[in-house]
Amino acid sequence: MQINEGEIEKRDIFIKQVEELSGQNLFGCYQCGRCSAGCPMVSRMDAIPSMVMRLVQLGDEKVLDKNTYWVCASCYTCDVRCPKGIDIAKVMEALRQIKLRKNLNYVDIKKIDGIEELPQIALISNFRKYTG
Ligand code: SF4
Ligand code: SF4
Repeated sequence: MQINEGEIEKRDIFIKQVEELSGQNLFGCYQCGRCSAGCPMVSRMDAIPSMVMRLVQLGDEKVLDKNTYWVCASCYTCDVRCPKGIDIAKVMEALRQIKLRKNLNYVDIKKIDGIEELPQIALISNFRKYTG
């Protein structure tokens, strides 16, 4: 597949944005898969953490359509396992921020079933993480 200059520039901007927000060297990742192998949430993800790293390296904004960074529990297992010292949880957080800054929420408050019965703390933490 051939990509034009405008597309390359768009990809570069996206990579830089993720790098700046996460503070991580994205190109340090060499796809060993140790992050994905240890992630406790991987069965709930539609793209495993190492795949997310690769999509980000490619500047592919389709990574924002994956649920991985919403499902990530910020447990830092991947961070501990990564031989390149990449804090993948921070990359996940950067992707979440990019999405929320576009005012695109993961959770629609009006569609939460049984909202009146949920504990207040659950609602507040949910809104903090999943809504802009
Ligand atoms: S921080 Fe997120 S991606 Fe990393 S192991 Fe934990 S749940 Fe998985
Ligand atoms: S553990 Fe580190 S180097 Fe290995 S795939 Fe994950 S992010 Fe890349």
